[in-house]
Amino acid sequence: GKGDLHAEVVVLGSGPGGYTAAFRAADLGKKVILIEKDPVLGGVCLNVGCIPSKALLHVAKVITEAEEMGAHGVSFAKPKINLDEVRAFKDKVVGQLTGGLTGLSKARKVEVVRGMGKFTGPNMIEVAGEDGTKTVSFDQCIIAAGSEPVSLPFIPKDDPRIVDSTGALELREIPKRMLVLGGGIIGLEMACVYDALGAKITVVEFMDQIIPGADKDIVKPLATRIGGRYENVFLKTKVTNVEAQKKGLKVTFEGADGKTFEDTFDMMLVAVGRRPNGKLIDAEKAGVLVDERGFIPVDKQQRTGVAHIFAIGDVVGQPMLAHKAVHEGKVAAEVCAGENRWFDARLIPSVAYTDPEVAWCGLTETEAKAKGIAYEKGVFPWAASGKALSNGRSEGMTKLLFNPEDQRVIGACIVGTNAGDLIAEAALAIEMGADAVDLGHTIHAHPTLSETLNFAAEMFEGTITDLM
Ligand code: FAD
Repeated sequence: GKGDLHAEVVVLGSGPGGYTAAFRAADLGKKVILIEKDPVLGGVCLNVGCIPSKALLHVAKVITEAEEMGAHGVSFAKPKINLDEVRAFKDKVVGQLTGGLTGLSKARKVEVVRGMGKFTGPNMIEVAGEDGTKTVSFDQCIIAAGSEPVSLPFIPKDDPRIVDSTGALELREIPKRMLVLGGGIIGLEMACVYDALGAKITVVEFMDQIIPGADKDIVKPLATRIGGRYENVFLKTKVTNVEAQKKGLKVTFEGADGKTFEDTFDMMLVAVGRRPNGKLIDAEKAGVLVDERGFIPVDKQQRTGVAHIFAIGDVVGQPMLAHKAVHEGKVAAEVCAGENRWFDARLIPSVAYTDPEVAWCGLTETEAKAKGIAYEKGVFPWAASGKALSNGRSEGMTKLLFNPEDQRVIGACIVGTNAGDLIAEAALAIEMGADAVDLGHTIHAHPTLSETLNFAAEMFEGTITDLM
């Protein structure tokens, strides 16, 4: 039957996956309803993820660069940090983007329905909003419900000194001593912000390296730098207990040798991963399968087991990244509109916007070794880059992996300032099937950090002449 409202395509969730899908479907002529439980559109990415973190990381970068200019003969006074104004800057950036989304929805006649949506059948969603409950019926649906931070069972709830990434981005205060639980991308980005703002940071990571997933050699320059700046970086160590005391958070650590030790912190960020929201939408009532972790399995057209229901973004699996959600959103919307599309990206780049940045795409050496994939590599150390030296930041490295059969680029890892921007060239090279000669013969402007890709290809070919 028909609901209170009806749409040809209903999109559940307005994060980067959801709004992209909604806009694309509307552009292709569909009548679209976008359901969102939060007052503001944009999901995690715009409100409490990518964007606010990058606004704060920019502030952090300027502070640390100014500090380090002393080594180049220019000294600035100690920065005066007005936390309210820093927060206002971040909120303004977020507001510009989320406000933009409202305008874009109106321009496309995408109807936004506010409230928590749950399936009641294969063609119906019930939305519980502030002004009561509405039913929305649909011909096709795209689930873009995203994910949320996970906690650990022994961590006290409701202590304002213990935050997840959302709480850390609120930037309520700068603690004296802060523990970052989890040495992954989100934890290290927030560590970078709080370090620059004056907190003494300890990072604890269960694995034997920070940013597990990236090659060890690529992570090393970051590990070295934070090793020098932070109070402690504990690897192969887990937190086994947290006790909220008046004077601070008493944390018990357990190292790989089984020995335990304790320390007390003023604030703690829990960044141990994210859980998909698949279990919160009564998907089973629509016949859509949700696995035990909360992910919704989909095929290459983003279709769930139910032919007219699609799913995209964090809720369908790793990597949980905005640009992956966006790409999947376009695929799902175009398939809804009858186009013959599928998700066939060769790679999804990953970037840690730490200082220095760590970026990789395609095959990593770790993955190649684990899967027994043959590769050869070209590595260019930034200590030989004129631009990196001029920036006073020569600790970087550019590494390209090649298929030994045809010399095509199959993977790239970059660490150093701006690595996140530099990885785009490697991504294009891999997508287009470029080989070492293509990268080596493309004239890159001198002196730039982008030259390091050119040099890495030449290192592989053995044709490099002048490293500077
Ligand atoms: P989400 O952005 O999670 O959006 C889902 C939306 O659906 C939310 O608005 C939610 O309120 C709504 N919703 C869920 N269930 C319902 C329901 N039942 N009814 C109504 N509405 C519902 N990724 C990057 O690529 N680059 C980065 O730099 C980056 N930085 C990050 C930094 C932090 C601190 C965090 C936490 C994440 C970061 N990410 C980054 C990850 C990125 O934010 C996510 O991958 C991305 O937001 C996923 O988009 P999505 O559309 O799948 O879902």
